[in-house]
Amino acid sequence: MSKKVRVRFAPSPTGGLHLGGVRTVLYNYLFARQHGGDFVLRIEDTDQSRYVAGAEDYIFETLAWCGLEPDESPRKEGAFGPYRQSERKEMYRTYAERLVNEGKAYYAFDTPEELDAMRSLLKSDTNPTPQYDRTVRGQMRNSLTLPADEVKSLLDAGTPHVVRIRMPEGETVSFNDMIRGEVTFDTAIVDDKVLLKGDGMPTYHLAVVVDDHLMQITHAFRGEEWLPSAPVHILLWRWLFGEEAMPQWAHLPLILGPSGKLSKRDGAKYGFPVFAANWSDPKSGELTEGFRERGFIPEAFVNLLALLGWNDGTEQELFTLEELIQRFQMEKVHKGGAKFDFEKAQWFNHEWIKRSTAGRLLPDVKALLLSKGITPNDDAQLAKVIDLVKERCTLLPDFAQQGGFFFAAPSEWDTAAFASKWTPAKQSFFETYGNRISTASDATSFESIFKQSAEEAGIKPGELQLPLRIMLVGGKFGPPVFSIAELIGAEETKARIRKVLAILA
Ligand code: GLU
Repeated sequence: MSKKVRVRFAPSPTGGLHLGGVRTVLYNYLFARQHGGDFVLRIEDTDQSRYVAGAEDYIFETLAWCGLEPDESPRKEGAFGPYRQSERKEMYRTYAERLVNEGKAYYAFDTPEELDAMRSLLKSDTNPTPQYDRTVRGQMRNSLTLPADEVKSLLDAGTPHVVRIRMPEGETVSFNDMIRGEVTFDTAIVDDKVLLKGDGMPTYHLAVVVDDHLMQITHAFRGEEWLPSAPVHILLWRWLFGEEAMPQWAHLPLILGPSGKLSKRDGAKYGFPVFAANWSDPKSGELTEGFRERGFIPEAFVNLLALLGWNDGTEQELFTLEELIQRFQMEKVHKGGAKFDFEKAQWFNHEWIKRSTAGRLLPDVKALLLSKGITPNDDAQLAKVIDLVKERCTLLPDFAQQGGFFFAAPSEWDTAAFASKWTPAKQSFFETYGNRISTASDATSFESIFKQSAEEAGIKPGELQLPLRIMLVGGKFGPPVFSIAELIGAEETKARIRKVLAILA
């Protein structure tokens, strides 16, 4: 029997989640669900200097909003906890020491000043950022160069030190990426990365390998930016747990902006964080705005994320989460970067708003209207309004313009749109119409009374429709005008007509 599929999303709580991060969550989730496996959320918080308070809450809120809840996490402990690396600190040291004892890693006692001196000494045009590597380690203060008794007394005295991996020379390592196929590296190009830091915390490299092992992870999906670290991880797997035990990896393609690599600026422009955070951008000092504030709905957001770098080989673009679980295939994820297009993202949202029921949209639309100071009187009425206008809404805030006037009479009217063609005959037509609609209760009756009255007045109904719309709505927009009259009712329709007639008179 094959092992139970277990995947993990392993974010560092260093800020808001952006598109790429949530896409990684989604692909993990889809893969876990389609294989009846577990989806684990592990918080990789070993770099305390980059820790942002609130980031973990943000991650949880994002996953909840997207409907991509993990099976195990720091807030839903399973059998493999703790799920925050800082709380696992004590677990890592033994592995680092084992590697030191086996000659695969070493203690390094170099002070920050000594490291700086090394870098400025070796810095040249051909080597602008000197690394601590096989060419350098022999000249530094570490357990490879110092006598064993000195190393022991330094350790006994509690001298600050790190543990570094001793990258072998002239070896190639390779693995089979689920998206890219066979990927091969020359170990000589990789530096002697720190595995255990001075504060006793592991670095990402050690922690990710140890935890993927201890948490019995079978598949690890992460951003392409981690590909260069793969040789370090492969060696750690080989030495600690055996390479055959390594999870199957997939490195997901970058998400590109309209002009190449997705920049911070694109992020600010298109709202790349999922929702606004209560921290500001360290550079601009501005609060970030995200997809949620812009009025994307999670179904659309998840759908558009899935298609950033994947499709099922057909023309189909709209997928429910259930369909994605059925159809997603990691092997079909593209190798090249995926272009993010905000127009297209809006198209997804528009399609999703159209195909969502009024009941589904109601809480979101209600919250939106309330936030704009519009109080929808009752839910049944609001549901009708949603059905009537959703075709016209791309993002949720569009419901304020397209639906707000059902609940609050306009306070401004674009009378200029018909003023030049206004006549006393039209004025009296509307007076008559207002008087005659008391018994009208549906769009058809509002319309037939309208046509009848127009005929009697000898005016083409087409010339009267725009003024009626502006009286009811305030401007030249909205769904069919007699449907609006039906929904706001005869009394309100009459009141709105009279108000504008009074202004015009
Ligand atoms: N902590 C890493 C990150 O934030 C995780 C990478 C991985 O999934 O291995 O990107």
